[in-house]
Amino acid sequence: MRPSIHSGRGEPVEPRWPTITKDPANSKAVPNLVDYERVCAEFSWSHARAALDGLPGGGGLNIAHEAVDRHAAGVARHRIALRWLSKEGAQRNYTYGDLLDRTNRFANVLTRLGVGKGDPVAVLAGRIPELYIAALGALKTGSVFTPLFSAFGPEPIEARINIARAKVLVTTDALYRKKIEGLRRSLPSLEHVLLIGEPGSVKNLPGTRDFRALLAQADNRFTIPPTDPEAIALLHFTSGTTGKPKGAVHVHQAVIAHHATARFALDFHPGDVFWCTADPGWVTGTSYGIIAPLTHGLTSIIDEAEFDAERWYGILRAEQVTVWYTAPTAIRMMMRVGLETAKKFDLPSLRVLASVGEPLNPEAVVWGVEAFGRPFHDNWWQTETGGIMIANYPAMDIRPGSMGRPLPGIDVAIVRRIGDASVELVETPDTEGELALRPGWPSMFRGYLSDDERYRKCFVGGYYLTGDLATRDRDGYYWFIGRADDVIKSSGHLIGPFEVESVLLEHPAVAEAGVIGKPDPVALEIVKAFVALKPGHEPTDALRRELLGFARVRLGAAVAPREIDFCPTIPKNRAGKIMRRLLKARELGLPEGDTSTLEAS
Ligand code: ATP
Ligand code: MG
Repeated sequence: MRPSIHSGRGEPVEPRWPTITKDPANSKAVPNLVDYERVCAEFSWSHARAALDGLPGGGGLNIAHEAVDRHAAGVARHRIALRWLSKEGAQRNYTYGDLLDRTNRFANVLTRLGVGKGDPVAVLAGRIPELYIAALGALKTGSVFTPLFSAFGPEPIEARINIARAKVLVTTDALYRKKIEGLRRSLPSLEHVLLIGEPGSVKNLPGTRDFRALLAQADNRFTIPPTDPEAIALLHFTSGTTGKPKGAVHVHQAVIAHHATARFALDFHPGDVFWCTADPGWVTGTSYGIIAPLTHGLTSIIDEAEFDAERWYGILRAEQVTVWYTAPTAIRMMMRVGLETAKKFDLPSLRVLASVGEPLNPEAVVWGVEAFGRPFHDNWWQTETGGIMIANYPAMDIRPGSMGRPLPGIDVAIVRRIGDASVELVETPDTEGELALRPGWPSMFRGYLSDDERYRKCFVGGYYLTGDLATRDRDGYYWFIGRADDVIKSSGHLIGPFEVESVLLEHPAVAEAGVIGKPDPVALEIVKAFVALKPGHEPTDALRRELLGFARVRLGAAVAPREIDFCPTIPKNRAGKIMRRLLKARELGLPEGDTSTLEAS
């Protein structure tokens, strides 16, 4: 018999988080997606393709043409495409015309070096303009843009460059000296290293060239060669939350999905100022930090500095950001700093707040309303999906804690695996199963590099299985339960750590929580929570008991944590995601596994 399945929501309780109803009077722009059912029914990917230009003369589809050249050729030539804010407070603007010039030059640099179609070009840099120029210039030549997160240490960098077989590395002279120089011999595929540095500083480093000097010397005219929409364009490594990071391959026509999904889920409108806080070292920072805003001809804000709540509020206000795309970990950090700080900043321009990367606690959705007058719109996707798959749309009621509803053109199902070769659909509302997607959207990954078997195993019974467990309610809203690897099995219940963490977060003393299943001879597993406290709270036994009681009242005895440990911080990876597998390994005294993406604490 199948074990009874528990939503993790505990014994029936009144919904704690009422629906946030869209107030049309509050809207500054008519949302792009109003009649959800009608738009979904009428949507087709070939229609979505028509919103883009394609290369002149039927030359196919190239991401960089859609992002840069087509705007630079028209009235948007003098519009600011990127506004870069340096750590030190300087500001640099790049119009679409400037981007055309720089990306053409870089495409010519690569061509002169004999780099082109299918050649991986790795870029290891912080959020600096040259990263964006290198990415788009590489795409023009048909090379494969492979971002490497700049905070990685030498080992993860070495592993990724070698898996990608990168031919070119673009990096800064500082990062090169610190992380690459000593590794050069173990990077056999690398033929060219281009260093970004202050004029005159890039010299005498054997085997390197000066990126800026090469750019300055290069011709600023470049014709993008015909590009097969199915040609490989991007190689993204996953976040390594559940294990060793995988290299997911994406093609040029992914841009159709980047463009269309941003229109619906981020509600891009002409004139928007968009800020995606994700680093381009991760898929969000590329799909929505580089590509989507440019394909829409918007102005994108790039902040070089690391998270700082006051700085962020300052940027939202000074740049008059209209659409802001961030992540739960940042929102939780802002919540930790407090509402008073948020209230100091008046942000009348802000229209859409969105979040991705991890489950967004209902508390955080509602906090958005208190702090900004608008809720955060959670959306769900993966490195593998290349673009947003499920979202809360500005014109739709929000059910805090839900990921929202599928994007037009995306066929989502809840399934249960039967053996290795087939699945059955879970049709009953509010019943757990694995989140599955019907393949066929343009930004779907085309493989895991050097791991065909793993790729093949993702597809069962005509679906791509995501590895995430979820439910769908009667109205078609999806609710995240947990990653299949993280879900806790306790006394016949399946418990999603997210729901337990969300309840703990409601307690005023709790800043962060990570929840795991701890093996137990009777219950199979018991729920164990790790809690980091807000400033001003002490980790006492009395507080522990209070939290245990608080969670039991909310969740019921079967789901509430039986043990709570206090810790100064919860381990997260560099993408800001809670690494529950690490909490578990530490709890059990087991090897920590791949920690290449672990954030330094
Ligand atoms: P790895 O695959 O290497 O373990 P990862 O899955 O964290 O790492 P990503 O592709 O960056 O790598 O993340 C996708 C995953 O993040 C999703 O499968 C899901 O588990 C989680 N996720 C993303 N957005 C949401 C969301 N809105 N709600 C809940 N979970 C989310
Ligand atoms: Mg994953």
